Amino acid sequence: MIETAKLFELENQHGSGAYGKRPTALVRGEGVYVFDEAGRRYLDATSGQGVAALGHCHPAVISAISEQAATLITCHESFYNDRRAKLYELLASLIPADLNRFFLCNSGAEANEGALKVAKLLSGRDGIVAAKRSFHGRTTGALSMTWTQKYRKPFQEWLPAVDYVAFNDIEAAKRAISESTAAVVVEAIQGEGGVHPADNAYLQALRDCCDQTGAMLIVDEIQTGIGRTGKWFGFEHAGIVPDIMTVGKAIAGGLPMGAVCWRAAHGPIDRASHGSTFGGNPLACAAAIAALTAIRDEGLVENARDNGLWFMSELRAQNLRGVRQARGRGLMIGLELRGRVTPILKALQERGVLALPAGLNTLRLLPPLIITRDQLAVIGDAIAAVLG
Ligand code: PLP
Repeated sequence: MIETAKLFELENQHGSGAYGKRPTALVRGEGVYVFDEAGRRYLDATSGQGVAALGHCHPAVISAISEQAATLITCHESFYNDRRAKLYELLASLIPADLNRFFLCNSGAEANEGALKVAKLLSGRDGIVAAKRSFHGRTTGALSMTWTQKYRKPFQEWLPAVDYVAFNDIEAAKRAISESTAAVVVEAIQGEGGVHPADNAYLQALRDCCDQTGAMLIVDEIQTGIGRTGKWFGFEHAGIVPDIMTVGKAIAGGLPMGAVCWRAAHGPIDRASHGSTFGGNPLACAAAIAALTAIRDEGLVENARDNGLWFMSELRAQNLRGVRQARGRGLMIGLELRGRVTPILKALQERGVLALPAGLNTLRLLPPLIITRDQLAVIGDAIAAVLG
């Protein structure tokens, strides 16, 4: 085993520098827990930024990956493959309406890049409307739709023009959306931006506006999708269907995968208009089949809904001095604090709970969907101890 000090030194010396790192090396995971190199256990309310919906090392995902690794790891999309076909069939059964044309890729940002291209190809238009406070990823197309200046500013000159409108403000959206708009992009809950849910009426009005102008409505479900909010996809709370949806994070049980999903009624995109070497590889597809099947069969979407509701009411009832507002849906929870979040994250970690920031003063909780009420209560007690 590599020594802790050596491990830190190597990462600091050779890493890109792009990440602010906590001084902890996580080396093992089991269910809702992760363990550091000294064997200390933490309750993981980050789920690795929302990836580990099934917790860590779920047996179904382990055996699917092991079996597929011994069968066929890579198979470019220029050939057919049994695992990919099976995944398409499963996704089509879980995703509402006719959102069942898929482009498989390897990350959330890549899915949003793909969604922009699909919107452009299907609409023949150029305009993009996105929301203030949005986060859609860090590659150039996805970054152009990401509002936060700190991510976008150094690259501004390289990015396509995007019209930013206030989130949850339908009049502002109506003023920006026109017959030259290709895509209107929105998160079902703004995650990085501070855990702000889209109002149902806002999503419904955006849907109407896109219908009237012919713009494509893209809902980014990369953080909110795969059961996180208590429905398979966040837009289902509003009873709408977007033209295009993007998913990532939890879709493949921890292996890298993203997907662009669009309405079959819009048809396929032109041959060679998009592509990916790794996209749709059988290893990730096998992991995704296992993960999605386990989430469905273990009732984890319902667990996110019921335990999320329960936990939110517990958190609100605590009426904590340090908390200005509790927001979210299902097991995507944000506590807007009266002060900075960084010292609170540190204090929670000292109590054995890992949580995330969302901006400077929001504490974000994305626990695995397998979490029990007793385990949520442990998080609640740690929060009360730190913020009470
Ligand atoms: N979109 C949303 C809503 C996200 O939360 C994220 C990541 O946090 C992304 C896109 C980018 O995903 P990735 O980091 O896999 O590129």
